[in-house]
Order: sequence, then C-alpha cells, then structure tokens
Amino acid sequence: MKWEVVIGLETHVQLSTNTKIFSGASIESGAEPNAQACVVDLALPGVLPVLNYGAVERAMKFGLAIGAKVAERSIFARKNYFYPDLPKGYQISQFELPVVQGGELSFMVTPKKGEPYMKTLHLTRAHLEEDAGKSVHGIEMGLSGIDLNRAGTPLLEIVTEPELRSAEEAVAYARTLHALVVWLGISHGDMQNGNFRCDANVSVRPVGQKEFGTRCEIKNLNSFRFLQDAIEYEVRRQIELIEDGGQVVQATRLYDPDKNETREMRTKEDSMDYRYFPDPDLLPLDISREWLDEVKQAMPELPHQLRERLMSDFGLSQYDATMLTTSRGVADYYLALAEQVQDKKIAANWVMGELSAALNQSEVAIENSPVTPAVLAKLITRVLDNTLNNKGAKTVFAALWAKEGDDVDQLIEKLGLKQISDTGAIEKIVDEVIANNPKNVEEFRAGKEKALNGLVGQVMKASKGKANPGQVNQILRAKLAA
Ligand code: ADP
Ligand code: MG
Repeated sequence: MKWEVVIGLETHVQLSTNTKIFSGASIESGAEPNAQACVVDLALPGVLPVLNYGAVERAMKFGLAIGAKVAERSIFARKNYFYPDLPKGYQISQFELPVVQGGELSFMVTPKKGEPYMKTLHLTRAHLEEDAGKSVHGIEMGLSGIDLNRAGTPLLEIVTEPELRSAEEAVAYARTLHALVVWLGISHGDMQNGNFRCDANVSVRPVGQKEFGTRCEIKNLNSFRFLQDAIEYEVRRQIELIEDGGQVVQATRLYDPDKNETREMRTKEDSMDYRYFPDPDLLPLDISREWLDEVKQAMPELPHQLRERLMSDFGLSQYDATMLTTSRGVADYYLALAEQVQDKKIAANWVMGELSAALNQSEVAIENSPVTPAVLAKLITRVLDNTLNNKGAKTVFAALWAKEGDDVDQLIEKLGLKQISDTGAIEKIVDEVIANNPKNVEEFRAGKEKALNGLVGQVMKASKGKANPGQVNQILRAKLAA
C-alpha cells in the first residue's frame, strides 16, 4: 500500500529579551544554578507576575513577518500540572486567545530525489509562554537538583497546520523558521542552548484517504538532524505497525539519538488534564493600533521581500534568490559582493559554490569568512576581465582561503596563473596539438563534435591551464575548418 505522511510542528522559540517574561531576572545562559531565579521565579507566596513588553513586541514582529493577525486582545492562562521544576504548580501560557493567529511561511524544499520546489505552509497560531526550570540529575549519587534559572524564560510557541508531507518538508520549514526569527532579531536561535526546540506530530494514512491517521507527538527535537531522523523513524514504525495488522496509539514519544528510535512516554489515556483558566494575576494583553503601527514601521526587510528584489533587480532565479536569503549573514555577504561586481549571477555562483563549500568544510560562519566580499569581488573581476580562467580563479581562491596572501593580483603573479590571452601564443600551441593528434583531428573533421574536447584539453594542458578556454575553442575551430 502507498502511504502519505502528515506532519504538524510545534516549535518553542526562546525570545532574545534581557530578562524573563514575568520577572526582572536575567535569562543569560551560563550562570550558576539558581543564581538567576528571583522570588517570582521561585513562586514565593504573595509575588505577582509583571509582563515584559519586550517579549510581546517580539511576538508582534513575528506575527507581522508571517502576515498573521496580531490580536488586539489576548489572554494569559494557567496550565496546571505538577512537576518539581515548576514551583508555582502551573505554567503561564496562552490558550484560547493567542497573541498571533494564522499566517503563513513559504520555503524551498530540496528533496533527495526530484527537483527543488516551493511550499507555502499555513500556521495556526503563535502564543507567548514561560519556560519551566530544569531537573539536573547525576551531580551527586542518588540526588537530583533543581535549577530554576530557566524558569520564566520567554518563549514563543509556533504551531503549524498539519500540512507537512515529509521529513524533508518539516526540516525545510524548521530551517526557514529558524532563519526568520534570527533575521528578525527576536531570538538568538542558539540551538545548543535550547533556544529552538521542535515537537513533531506525525501520522500516516493510505494515499487518497481523507481522514487523518492517529498521530504521535515526538517531543523536544533540538537539532535539524534529530528532527529529520526522528520523523523518518516514526513514519517507518507507524507504517510497519499498521501493515502488520496493528494500530497506532496516540501517544507522546521521546527520540533517542543514540539508538535512533522513538520511545513511548505517555499515552492519551494518561495524558494530563491541564485545567486551563485565565490567570487572575494578569490583565488581558491589549495591543493598541498605535503600538502595532510603531512596530510595523521598525520592521526590517524580510527574507521573502529581499528574495523578490534579487529576482526583479538582479535577474536571479528563484532558486538562487532563495539560497542567498537563507540567513541574514549570507544575504549581507552577497549584497556587499554584488555591489562591487557587475555580473550578479556570477557573484551568486561564487557565494553558493566555492565560498559555501569552503565555509561548510571548515565549519566557519559566513560572517567570519577569511575571504571578505571586497577580496572576492576583486577575484571575480579578474575572471570577468579575462586575467584568470575559472580554474585559475579557484586556485587563487584556495590561496586566499588559506591566508597565503590577501592581494588578488599579487597572488595571480606569485602563482603564475595569469591567463594567456595572447592570440599568437595560443595559436602556436594549437598548431602543435593539431600536428600531434591526427586521430582527433580526423574524427572532428568527420563530424564528431566530441573530438574537439580532447583537443581543447590538450591545449589547456600544454599551456599549464593558463590559456583562455574560449579563445582556444575559437582558434581550434578556425584552424580545423581551414
Ligand atoms: P494538541 O491540542 O493536542 O496540542 P493540536 O490540535 O493543537 O493538538 O495540534 C498540535 C499539532 O499537531 C499541530 O501542529 C497540528 O497541525 C498537528 N496535528 C494535528 N493532527 C494531526 C495528525 N493527525 N497528524 C499529524 N499532525 C497532526
Ligand atoms: Mg499542542
């Protein structure tokens, strides 16, 4: 049987405020346990929460960026459950009336098989809430510790409609969402520190069936790799289970990256009743027209807006424009480069090709690239003015990357890569190659186009890669036709 995969994601994004959502304690990471837990975070009797408007403003920015409705009035609710790292006995969240409603996000999916395609995903909602503390195990034999530094950290929980249809789509969405919140400056997006955690709801159904299958929710996936692997595992598990005559039980599951499998945590039967109700300690959150307008005015150009601009002003393809707007860093690098290079497409190719490969291989962020946009611009200029051929340019790039120098012209000189564009010199080599390769010559003259490649290769080799390939081609054809 053919199966269709259905996925909806719930993502917890830690907001980039200085202090907590309902108290003045710092949220900076790395502090001693409980050094950043004030009386509100400890839930001492008599304390009251005070809303951090910086967190609200970040949620508003997100809502505006995805074309959602930013609610004029939203409500904070208490989500009641008992756990040692939750001293109040409830988490303050938003339930019935979230601050951000609806919206959509478009992104490019690059499947392992088949062509890349664009997908537009509808978002259900995004709501503000506080994070819980942490239980820390294994510090001392038989004891667990509680660290409340994280308690009260502001989170935006972003929920999608069940419209994702593969692990690849889920990861493409998560990457785009991550890039967006960092781009907007509303989160540091530091995944190692849990700034961006996804819960994946996964179900399968026979192709053609209207109703959704029973879903499982995999909690707390904090890397794109885990997200991909966990979903793929869960899909396989559900399909095998059903094909063997079993039934999927709605449950919350945990992903174990060491074993690459998901394990059941709790089923729907023992799922908690949170007894949500409006928090009487907090007023409804009212967002005035004026405030929303103010935030709107301060919005940066968005990735998709820049994408459109790169397509219309620079004539880039949708694919290229999407790749160049995957992060603020890539976009800034490309814009700085394109300012200094006439041919915007060739500039794009260098960023997505040679530069990306080098960055990936050395695991360097583009902001710290040893080859700056100005230096790369100079190198590309030397290709465009025929001083270098592509092969030579790659050699110079490698030298720049290895910090063998930072002056492009000096490196070209030093490495002896200056392209031979002197027609006389090339003609001389071409004559020799024609004389020494009678078989290729005969084949070409007999109509075998491919034989020319062999001859071009010979000329390039004889010139130590320095001949201008375009010229070589031209001269060869002219001589062979004579
Ligand atoms: P809950 O209240 O249990 O969290 P929601 O209705 O809010 O459930 O849905 C949570 C997430 O699960 C959403 O992202 C939604 O798109 C997704 N979802 C709902 N039903 C399914 C399903 N059958 N298969 C996959 N994902 C689903
Ligand atoms: Mg939910």
